[in-house]
Amino acid sequence: MFVHFITGGESVELSERQQKIIEIVKENGPITGESIAEHLDLSRATLRPDLAILTMAGFLDARPRVGYFYTGKSGMELLTEKVKQYKVKHFQSVPVVVKEDVSVYEAISTMFLGDVGTLFVVDEENLLTGVVSRKDLLRASIGTQDLNTIPVHIIMTRMPNITVCRPNDLLIESAKLLIDKQIDGIPVVKDMENGFQVIGRITKTNITKAFVELILDE
Ligand code: ADP
Repeated sequence: MFVHFITGGESVELSERQQKIIEIVKENGPITGESIAEHLDLSRATLRPDLAILTMAGFLDARPRVGYFYTGKSGMELLTEKVKQYKVKHFQSVPVVVKEDVSVYEAISTMFLGDVGTLFVVDEENLLTGVVSRKDLLRASIGTQDLNTIPVHIIMTRMPNITVCRPNDLLIESAKLLIDKQIDGIPVVKDMENGFQVIGRITKTNITKAFVELILDE
C-alpha cells in the first residue's frame, strides 16, 4: 500500500519501507538510524534517503545524540499547520482607491489602468466609505445616463456593509469570507479612530496564489 502526501515542491508516495520505518520509530522512538537499520536488516547507508524524506516531510524529527522520533502528525495535519501560518499580510496586494466624487467613467478607467476588479472608495480623510465592483459599473453603464455625471458614491456598496480584513487575520478566514459573502475582493484595513484606512486588498487571485504556493512550496 502506498500513502500519498505532498511535500517540498513535489508529490511523493511513501514506500512500504518508509511506512515500516514510521512504525518502528512510533514503537521504539527515540531510536538511532543504526537501530532502525537493524530492525529492517538493512545498512544505515541504504536507509539514509528514506530517513531524509521522512524528516523533510515532517513525519519524523531527529535530535543529535538522541535519534529519530515520531512527530505524530499525518500529512493532512502538516498541511493544515502550514495553512494556519498564512496570514493576510503575506499575500495582500496593493489596493486601488478612488474618491467618492469620481465619475463612473473615471472609475471604469481606473479599474482598467489599475488592472483590478474591485475599487475601494474613500472620503477626504482617506477613510473607507465604499466598494465598487465590475458589475456595479456595468449596471450603471446599462442606462442612458452620461457616465461622466454619475459619481461612484451613488452606485457603490457602502459602509457599514463592507466586509474588511486585517493584516494579521488568517488568509483562510478571508478566503471563507470571499465565499460566504460572494464577493471577489476584501479591503485590508488599519483601524483608525473614526474609520478604516485601506492598506491592501485580498482577492480570489491572492487565494489562488497561496493555494499554488502551498502545494508547490515555492
Ligand atoms: P462582481 O459584482 O463584479 O462580480 P463582486 O462579486 O465582488 O464583483 O461584487 C458583488 C457585490 O458585492 C457588488 O455590488 C459589490 O459592490 C459588493 N462588494 C464587493 N466587495 C465587497 C466587500 N468587500 N464588502 C461588501 N460588499 C462588497
